[in-house]
Amino acid sequence: MIDLFGLLKDTGAYKTVKGDKENGRLSHAYLILTPDGENLGEYLKIFARLAFCNFVEPCFNCRACKLIEENAYSDLIIYPKKETVLAEDINSLIEESYLKPVEADKKIFIINHAETMNASAQNKLLKTLEEPPKGVHIFLGATSEFPLLPTVLSRVKKLEIPAFSAEKLKNALKEECPALERLESAVACGDGTVGKALSLYGDENLKSITDLAVDILVNMKSSKDLLFYSTKVLSSKCDLSEFLSVLELLLRDMLMISQGKEDLVAAKSAVSALKKAERFKTGAIIHALECITEANKRKKFNANPTMLVEWLLFQILEGKYKWQKS
Ligand SMILES: [Zn+2]
Repeated sequence: MIDLFGLLKDTGAYKTVKGDKENGRLSHAYLILTPDGENLGEYLKIFARLAFCNFVEPCFNCRACKLIEENAYSDLIIYPKKETVLAEDINSLIEESYLKPVEADKKIFIINHAETMNASAQNKLLKTLEEPPKGVHIFLGATSEFPLLPTVLSRVKKLEIPAFSAEKLKNALKEECPALERLESAVACGDGTVGKALSLYGDENLKSITDLAVDILVNMKSSKDLLFYSTKVLSSKCDLSEFLSVLELLLRDMLMISQGKEDLVAAKSAVSALKKAERFKTGAIIHALECITEANKRKKFNANPTMLVEWLLFQILEGKYKWQKS
């Protein structure tokens, strides 16, 4: 089992809601933000347990905690009923909000993926957000706040679940992902979320992309090699954004190696190969990292992938020789 609770309980978002509960001042509406869309629903359910459980922290063992796990607790109602939040979900929420709780002293509504609500659904929700019936609390969860109207945002207490450190993610995922080296690369290339790390861990291509990136750093020596490698990068098996994050990770590791901080290297399996890339001077590594940032920017603006990869590899190669001479 992935220990999502272990990750969440150290965040400011969790501590805020816990403090509100302790003071008997649970807010009528929270907005929980995280880029981890896959696990957003689970995080919201942990907040619901925190609010309902009679212990200071969710015990995962009482009647409420257990029923919430099974989506069967009568005072917790979760939307959307389908894939995205629809007007009918909000209509249902408004009606339900006037009915008294069945067994608890409060009623909680979760709106998962609130970023999928259209403007008219959001407008419908406004009145309930502003003056909810007594004992009603709404937990909105979203991967981004931008689709939400300012009028909605001004009526909720906004809390962010930040990106988790590699160490914390590894701890939370080690049972689910027993291949340690693979887990390390997945976590290092991810964006600090459980969702991304898990999907990279399961990605059969990650190993071959890492091998290709190491190969480029160690063996690309001339403009003839450059064409050979850019063709490989552009082949159908290699996802360009994944390639860029792997390359970035390896260059950061090279920087650590060059500074004698080998213990801080993320892709431990690549250390011995990367050491062969010693002809990269620190300046060349930093230049390459800057070019990856630039490449990511250009990619966002739909740059031509072939030109982008050729440009990037050329910059890396040129930097390597430029700093060798100086
Ligand atoms: Zn409990």
